[in-house]
Amino acid sequence: MQPFTYVRVRSAADAVRAVADGGPGTRFLAGGTTLLDLMKLGVETPARLVDVTGLEDLNTIETAGPGELVFGAMARMADVAADPRLIRDYPALSESLWRAASEQLRNMARVGPNLLQRTRCAYFRFGEPFACNKRKPGSGCAAQDGLNRGHALLGGSESCIAVYPGDWAIALVAFDAQVDVLGREGERTLPVEALHREPGNTPHLETTVAPEELILRIRIPRTPLGRASTYHKIRDRESYAFALSSAAVAVRMEEDTIGQARVAIGGLATRPWRCREAERTLAGRTLTPETARAAGDAALRGAKPTRDNRFRIELGARTVADALMIAAERARS
Ligand code: SF4
Repeated sequence: MQPFTYVRVRSAADAVRAVADGGPGTRFLAGGTTLLDLMKLGVETPARLVDVTGLEDLNTIETAGPGELVFGAMARMADVAADPRLIRDYPALSESLWRAASEQLRNMARVGPNLLQRTRCAYFRFGEPFACNKRKPGSGCAAQDGLNRGHALLGGSESCIAVYPGDWAIALVAFDAQVDVLGREGERTLPVEALHREPGNTPHLETTVAPEELILRIRIPRTPLGRASTYHKIRDRESYAFALSSAAVAVRMEEDTIGQARVAIGGLATRPWRCREAERTLAGRTLTPETARAAGDAALRGAKPTRDNRFRIELGARTVADALMIAAERARS
């Protein structure tokens, strides 16, 4: 047993103070769908947990406003996924949540902390004797010469090739979402795209937020691209598995020509991966299976395969291409 203490807080400011004052062994606890797993595995051993699930003012879901959609960080994944306006106007966002996890998990997990979920790399999760720079800096990376079928093709380094496992963040990156975070010095705002680091030679540093910074809300600018969007996810089994590849895409069609496109991919990179080259490839072109596939190839350009994962270059390109055809169909309906 690893003893730890537990405290519930009444405000975001109290939460930040409790984690900042508690020292390095203090962690926020929300739905617990990542943290409690890792505690049971002995990978995370916090001395103190600060439960933020009671922060009622962070439960909000605002999808009716004119300028942006706003989701309080403590809104449940299930509630956001079921929002009728989101389903109608931004299907990619809703689908990314529906396809992320089982109903039990969607009812527990919150949309803010979900962005910070940690990798599923088995060498990270199952501890000694496996070398893992993310779990134990400087120890090596067992995945480089080990079983790496599910590891990253983009954004990796010699120190780490762990895939960012989430779905929601991929869709948010496609829509230029931002997060407001609260720290000791007050509030600041950053793009979701800037929230995750590539591993470089410090894979244990995963995000650009400090341990005591609390995500307050997610803000998504309204865009007409939302309606013709989709989150397409390919996995080993049809329901509730992590992505082998995924794509969040949105298009604005002008007759048969693409006026504008957004493309982000998941399951393939060490962080949520926006594909601007793929977007440029599409602008002003007629959408055909061939142009969609060219965008898929552009999205995977620069991919660095390891022993077991080369097949996911082709899979990723096809995922993007299929997603574009689905989104274009929605634009026509
Ligand atoms: Fe650890 Fe990253 Fe290597 Fe996995 S890929 S063993 S998380 S260093």
